[in-house]
Amino acid sequence: MTKTFLEPFTERLLRAGPQLAGYSWPWAGRLWRERLELDDNLSIWADQTPPAPMRAPLRGGVTADLAIIGGGFTGTSTAYAVSRRWPERRVVLLEAATLGNGASGRNGGLMLNRVNGCETVDAETAAQIDRLTRAGIDALCARIARHALPVDHRRDGTVTVYTSTERAEAAHAAVEADNRIGIPTRFLNSAELRRQLAVEQGCGAVLDPGTGQINGLQLVRAMAPLLEAQGVQIYEGTPVVNVQEGQPVVLTTPQGEVRADSIVLATNGYTGALGYFRDALFPLHSHVLATAALTVEQRQQLGWHGLAGFADDLDRISYASMTDGGHLVFGGGSNQAYSYLFNNRTRYPGGTSARAQASLQETLRRHFPGGAELPIVRRWVGTLGMTFDRRPLIGVRGERRNIYYALGYSGHGVTLANLAGEILCDLYAGDDCRWRGLPFVQGRYTRIPPEPLRWAGYQLVTRLTGRSPRLHQPSGGSAQIKKW
Ligand SMILES: Cc1cc2nc3c(=O)[nH]c(=O)nc-3n(C[C@H](O)[C@H](O)[C@H](O)COP(=O)(O)OP(=O)(O)OC[C@H]3O[C@@H](n4cnc5c(N)ncnc54)[C@H](O)[C@@H]3O)c2cc1C
Repeated sequence: MTKTFLEPFTERLLRAGPQLAGYSWPWAGRLWRERLELDDNLSIWADQTPPAPMRAPLRGGVTADLAIIGGGFTGTSTAYAVSRRWPERRVVLLEAATLGNGASGRNGGLMLNRVNGCETVDAETAAQIDRLTRAGIDALCARIARHALPVDHRRDGTVTVYTSTERAEAAHAAVEADNRIGIPTRFLNSAELRRQLAVEQGCGAVLDPGTGQINGLQLVRAMAPLLEAQGVQIYEGTPVVNVQEGQPVVLTTPQGEVRADSIVLATNGYTGALGYFRDALFPLHSHVLATAALTVEQRQQLGWHGLAGFADDLDRISYASMTDGGHLVFGGGSNQAYSYLFNNRTRYPGGTSARAQASLQETLRRHFPGGAELPIVRRWVGTLGMTFDRRPLIGVRGERRNIYYALGYSGHGVTLANLAGEILCDLYAGDDCRWRGLPFVQGRYTRIPPEPLRWAGYQLVTRLTGRSPRLHQPSGGSAQIKKW
C-alpha cells in the first residue's frame, strides 16, 4: 500500500534523473573520479574450469591496428571476428586481471534471446532482434563445435515464469502475437510448467526454445589459444590506466604503452574508470549462490525436471540455471541480492555479503520449498553494466571515429556480448547495413546523475519501492525474459 502510494513520487524522481544529470555533471563529475577495482572470481564456473597459466603483462611499447580493452565475451568475440576477417591486422587484447574474470566468467549462465531495454519496440524490430539473437546463439554454438572448444553448454530451453494469473494471461496473449511475427516462443500453463519446473508461484510461463546455459569462463578461456593462433596478442594483468584519443590512440598501462589506430572498449561495468560513459552506466553487483551437484532424486524433490533455466517476472528478478553436472545456480530476487556501491565501485568488499546470501536462500526456498535444505557450495558476486533504460550501447565514437564500444548489457549479455564481436567487426569495416536501425546500435542513452545524487537516488528508489531504478520505455511489447 505504502509502496503504491509512493510510486508517483519515485516515478517523478526517476524522470528528474536525466535533468539533474544535465545540471550536475559539469561540476560533480570532476569531484568524484572512479577507480578500477578488481576481485577474484569465486564462482562455481571457476571450480569447473581447469586453471590456465596467466599470460604475461605488457612490458614496453607495442603498436596495433586494433587494441581491445577487456577480456570477457565482448573482447574475445571482437578479437575473434576481426582476426578472422583480417588475418594480417595486428590485434592486441589487454585484460586487467585474467580472461573471464569479469561478468562473463561469473554470471547466471543463461544464454537468452532478445535484448534488454528493447521490450517496447515495434513488432518488426522485435522480430528482427529475436532473429538476430537466435542466430547469435546458433553462431556461438557453431563456433564451439567448429573449433571443438571444451565448453559445457546446453540448449534445452529456458522459461520466464509469471507469478500472477493476470500477468500469465497477458504473457499468453503476447506469445500469440509473437508467434504471428515468427517468434517461436510457447506458452505453458501452470500444469505444463510444473511438469518441467515446479516453481511455487508459477501461474504460467513462456518457453523460449533454443535458449540454454553456458559456462562462460570455460568459453573465454578456450578462446584464448584460438585467438593466439589467429595472431592476436593477449596480455593479462594489464589494466589500461589512460586513453589518449587521437591518431593513433595511446593506451597507457602500468609497464607499457599501446599505440593503436583504433580501440574497443569491452569493459562493460568497469568502463567508468576509463572516463567513458560515466553518465550512461552504473555497475550493479549481483550476488549469486550455487548448490552442490544434486542427485537425480534431489532434483526431483526440488521440482526441477527439465529445462536449462528460468527467470521470474518480478522487478528484482530471480534467475536460475542448472548445470549439466547438477549444480543449481541461483541469483537475484530481492533488493538485498543486488548492490550499488558509492561512486561506481566495481569490487564488492568481502566477495559477497551474509545479508545478500541469506536473502538469496530465502527466495530460493520461496520458489522451491523442496530445496530448503540443499547444500550450498559457492557464493559470489559479479559486476553488471547497467543503463538507465536497460538498453545496451554498441557503436563508435570519438573525433576520429576510432573508439568502438559495446557495453551496458544490463544483465542480459551472454548472447549479445558474444554477438557484439560481429557487430563491431562490421562497424570497423565501415559497413553497418546488417545492424542499421537497431535501437542499441549507435543509439542514444538516458543520462544518469553523478554522485552523490546517483547513490542517494538508488537508495531512495530501491528502499521506497523495492524496485531497481529504471526509466521505463512506453508500455506495450512482447513476452520475454527481462533482466533487471
Ligand atoms: C552475477 C551475474 C549474473 C549474470 N547472469 C546473466 C545471465 O544469466 N544471462 C545473461 O545473458 N547475462 C547475464 N549476466 C550479464 C553478462 O554476464 C554480461 O553482460 C557479459 O558477460 C558482459 O561481457 P563483457 O565482456 O562485456 O564484460 P565483462 O565480462 O565484465 O568483461 C570486462 C573485462 O574488462 C576488464 N577490464 C575492465 N577495465 C579494464 C581496464 N581498464 N583495462 C583492461 N581490462 C579491463 C575486466 O577485468 C573484465 O575482465 C550476468 C552478469 C552477472 C555479473
